[in-house]
Amino acid sequence: MSARPEPRPGVMKIDAYVPGKSAAAGVAKVHKLSSNETPLGPSPKAVEAVRNTDHLELYPDGSATRLREAIAAKYGLDPSRIVCGAGSDELLSLIAYAYVGPGDEGIFSQHGFLVYRIAILAAGGTPVVAEEKNHRTDVDAILAKVTERTKIVFLANPNNPTGTYIPFDEVKRLHAGLPSHVVLVLDAAYAEYVRRNDYEAGLELVATAENVVMTRTFSKIYGLASLRIGWMVAPAHIAEAVNRIRGPFNMNGPAMAAGIAAVQDEAHVAKAVEHNEQWLEWLTKEIGSLGLTVTPSVANFLMITFPDEPGRTAKDADAFLSGRGLILRRIDAYGLPHALRLTVGGEEANRLVVEALRDFMKGGSDA
Ligand SMILES: *Cc1c(COP(=O)(O)O)cnc(C)c1O
Repeated sequence: MSARPEPRPGVMKIDAYVPGKSAAAGVAKVHKLSSNETPLGPSPKAVEAVRNTDHLELYPDGSATRLREAIAAKYGLDPSRIVCGAGSDELLSLIAYAYVGPGDEGIFSQHGFLVYRIAILAAGGTPVVAEEKNHRTDVDAILAKVTERTKIVFLANPNNPTGTYIPFDEVKRLHAGLPSHVVLVLDAAYAEYVRRNDYEAGLELVATAENVVMTRTFSKIYGLASLRIGWMVAPAHIAEAVNRIRGPFNMNGPAMAAGIAAVQDEAHVAKAVEHNEQWLEWLTKEIGSLGLTVTPSVANFLMITFPDEPGRTAKDADAFLSGRGLILRRIDAYGLPHALRLTVGGEEANRLVVEALRDFMKGGSDA
């Protein structure tokens, strides 16, 4: 018998999630390019909706009916199959709690989103990692890891932090290869940004299969990360299971009001897509021309790999850029110690990053 309470075994194996930095010591003006937030901010209509929320003394609608209806109307879905969460992170955890327990395995890819490992361990399960090829999800590697203990597969498409994606044909091949009792979670946090004919977020698969769930978020292109709004669409039986274990009032009133306004402001989303298309291409070209390796990205961020030479490493670059108030994301925790992740920012920030990286590669020092 232990002298004090001990958490369940998996809990102490979790490395707590460390968010991107938001400040740099001794620098007045900071450009935060470390958390894939949008430089355009939220729709003004969403901000207005938050300001207009009153009656904070009343509990919110526990089933998020109006928000689910607004999402359903936009995507042509059945609202009863939608569940909202405090960010899609909450939903990823709830899906794991509902389907994974001690002795069960959950699979995700080598450089997949860190929340998957946390969700599987917290639920008591065992995380299983499938190797990637060229920083891209490898469907065959995932299928090779499936055992009779597998209960869940998490796929971020596009993936964070690599920015790569797999075509919908590959997603369908993954689904076809999984046993029907395994839940396939398609995390489409960056779907709105993707401009590729062979990409689909996967709504069609969710509608026709009994074991596929898609999660989406208002934190990225909608610019509402602070309010914590995510949603999932699933077969009725999975939505029902998640509804049983979620907190009865997991969505707050101001967040739901903002979400409804945001999802209806298509012009704002279109502007964000256009901005991203232009600057993602520009950053990829400019940074690539400095002798750095940029992994082709379809999202609103890109992964830059640095040489493994003294003075030129990702860690050195991070320190150099921070000195100029440019905060990128170290991704050692993802097994990518030689790379930094850069969020596409506004024009000023993007130009400053390229200028700083040029000076860094020339061996310049601000010290
Ligand atoms: C940002 C992100 C999320 C969304 O997180 P929220 O909890 O909705 O803010 C989910 N998955 C991936 C891969 C992400 O990068």
